[in-house]
Amino acid sequence: MSIQKEPSFRESVDLMFNRAVAMMDLPPGLEEKIRVCNATYTVRFGVRLRGQIQTFTGYRSVHSEHKEPVKGGIRYAIGVNQDEVEALAALMTYKCALVEAPFGGSKGGLRIDPRQYDEHELELITRRFAYELAKRDLIHPSQNVPAPDMGTGEREMAWIADQYARMNTTDINAVACVTGKPLNAGGISGRVEATGRGVQYALREFFRDPRDMEKAKLTGSLDGKRIIVQGLGNVGYHAAKFLSEEDGALITGIIEWDGALFNENGLDVDAVRAWISKHGGVSGFPDALHTAEGSAVLEEDCDILIPAALEGVINLTNADRIKASLIIEAANGPVTAGADDILREKGVVIIPDMYANAGGVTVSYFEWVKNLSHIRFGRMQRRQEEARHQLVVDELQKISDAMGSTYTMSDSFKQKYLRGADELELVRSGLDDTMRIAYQSMRDVWHERGDVDDLRTAAYIVSIDKVAASYRAKGL
Ligand code: NAD
Repeated sequence: MSIQKEPSFRESVDLMFNRAVAMMDLPPGLEEKIRVCNATYTVRFGVRLRGQIQTFTGYRSVHSEHKEPVKGGIRYAIGVNQDEVEALAALMTYKCALVEAPFGGSKGGLRIDPRQYDEHELELITRRFAYELAKRDLIHPSQNVPAPDMGTGEREMAWIADQYARMNTTDINAVACVTGKPLNAGGISGRVEATGRGVQYALREFFRDPRDMEKAKLTGSLDGKRIIVQGLGNVGYHAAKFLSEEDGALITGIIEWDGALFNENGLDVDAVRAWISKHGGVSGFPDALHTAEGSAVLEEDCDILIPAALEGVINLTNADRIKASLIIEAANGPVTAGADDILREKGVVIIPDMYANAGGVTVSYFEWVKNLSHIRFGRMQRRQEEARHQLVVDELQKISDAMGSTYTMSDSFKQKYLRGADELELVRSGLDDTMRIAYQSMRDVWHERGDVDDLRTAAYIVSIDKVAASYRAKGL
């Protein structure tokens, strides 16, 4: 039965949580302790801009402190509100547990349209917001570590890190107070692309199991699959780029704030991205059909739908018209609880947000560890690894020569085998491993429990189980 009234984002998350908890056997009271948001701080602060003081409203919500620091992005958008920040903080708790990143859940937001301000103004606003949060330990390497989200990126994270360092001049770990920083300001290779890369790894893992493909009525591999992406920002762009360039998928539709592009032969993702950078939107892009009614393209025929922009875009008004048989939630909360019911009844498979976009927090975790250890990954081992591989290659060549063979190893093999892993390769390997293992833990519950018919409930069961275990171990 579908729900008639659309719940709020936080209510949606709670409804999905409750669905999973009803199938679990938690001690009395623990379910509520895990579900509720511990605290939300609202701050209003003024910044003098263009000759007058402008007041901004920001939030930092801490959902669960079963592990610390708590972690979660900071969003800049005009629609930011307490309900949304709390929903996103709850998802962070479940997400971190699912991918075994040792953090509690948090999220922040600033009610602002960043496009209305120039870079200098945004720096003033960001530094002031960071100051307000840091003085209450809501930005802190061991307490609360933000990251980018919608409307923020490396640039904002660098300002936040610098602001924290100015306020804590003797903290040797100051740079670990935020992740998603530029490489030259304490960041890690592969963080910018991480969430989109994680979406790619998630889909690859999905296509490794014929049982999963059968549930989504799909066959073969990612090669040639028709994909529609909503939002060509950080997450959507990288996911679409990697899936089309490396897996042979066709990006047939791209939906942006000013309409959608459609081309059944596949769109050139980099060309569309360049067009958006230059013109501010997708309108006018050649080589594609343009429709001003972007969200209608969510309902177009395709194999895989990737909502990678906003929450609540697949809801009671359009869920029954969605044609994709597989949805991967790159955005947080793109499918409302009511729509989730409808899609489940239709047999649509949904790879849920808490797993699908966990690549970002996974690589953020690597960045935080890198910052605390004060050394880049691979710096100690890389050349030693290369030297040992060289020994093997030389020895094998000697054996081959001694046996009178004319065989020599190909240059391309030697090039690949002899090269020690650099930081980017290690990050990708760690991300791939994390996405595979987390998917497998959901898949086991999905296929083996008998009473779980969707991946979202499976994801909740796995993650709630882990959070509950933490609380039990702490004696709560
Ligand atoms: P972003 O700001 O880089 O990109 C968002 C994109 O969506 C922009 O291109 C924007 O123009 C577009 N957009 C805005 N309104 C739209 C509309 N009405 N219809 C279609 N497109 C619209 O943001 P992002 O970092 O890519 O985040 C996108 C989603 O992914 C959010 O839900 C966010 O919470 C989630 N997420 C992001 C990360 C990360 O590492 N950045 C990690 C996990 C989850």
